[in-house]
This record gives sequence, C-alpha cells and structure tokens, in this order.
Amino acid sequence: MFQLNSAELQSSQSNLKLEIPMNDNPYYSRTDTSKLSVTDEQWKKVLPEDVYYIARKKGTERAFTGKFWDFEGIGTYYCAVCGNKLFKSDSKFASSCGWPSFFETDRPGSVIYADDTSHGMFRTEVMCGRCDSHLGHVFDDGPPPTGRRYCMNSIVLDFEPDK
Ligand SMILES: [Zn+2]
Repeated sequence: MFQLNSAELQSSQSNLKLEIPMNDNPYYSRTDTSKLSVTDEQWKKVLPEDVYYIARKKGTERAFTGKFWDFEGIGTYYCAVCGNKLFKSDSKFASSCGWPSFFETDRPGSVIYADDTSHGMFRTEVMCGRCDSHLGHVFDDGPPPTGRRYCMNSIVLDFEPDK
C-alpha cells in the first residue's frame, strides 16, 4: 500500500511542496482529515486577516471581487484555512451571483451545515467539515443533477490544478 514507484514518489514530493501554505499555519493539511479543535484566538495567529474575517467571523466578500467567481481552471478546491478537500472543478458552474458556485461537494463529509437567520433571511450556512470555518451558503436554485448552489467565498478556497 505504501510502495510507490519513483515517479509517484516524485509527484507526491512535489505536491508536498505546494501544500506548504504561505503563512505559518500548523493546522493546514491536505491529507489529514481528522477534525480540528482550534480556538479563534489560535486561528487569528496563523491566518491572514482577510481569511480570518470571512472564515472565523462569518464575513462575506463582495460579489464579483474574489479570485474564483469566474475562474474556470480544472482541478480541486481545498479549504484555505485547514486544507480539507471541498470541491472538484467539474462541479463548478457559471453562476451570475458573483461568487464561486458548485452543485456538489467532493464527499458527504466535506462540509457541515447550520441554520443561519442573520440579516432577516433564512439561509443554510456551509462550514468546513474539518475546521468548522465559514465558507458560504447553500441554496436550492442550482443546476441539475443536484439542484444545489454552494455559494462560496473565494478567499476561503485554495485551488490546486490537475496535473
Ligand atoms: Zn477547513
């Protein structure tokens, strides 16, 4: 199971290099899926301020400003806070809402949900299944086959292109 040929080993090593985040975030991992229990105080020390505000204070980036709303790269999206795998680019669709939108998550446990009644609306909040960070909301006006629209903040997503 752990026998890799040298080509695979090289590619896993180069992946490893890419995995090291720009900041010194010891909780970030694309391979460890175990649930994190990290306080906001701890997150504040390791996350860039704008990421912290969206992820931990449930902020929302302005529409049409994020790096991924009209991005069409082929690859995988990870949680920018903890590295948890969230979405594949083949579930991303062109939405006019101004935020990156997906019709399904990578796997059932990728995200967790909570009722959000803030701002006089009833919405379903979407959080990372590993670190509980706020990612965005999910709506029922998405395209087939799921009819779901995961409306995400670009800043809490990391993108890794397919090789
Ligand atoms: Zn996360």
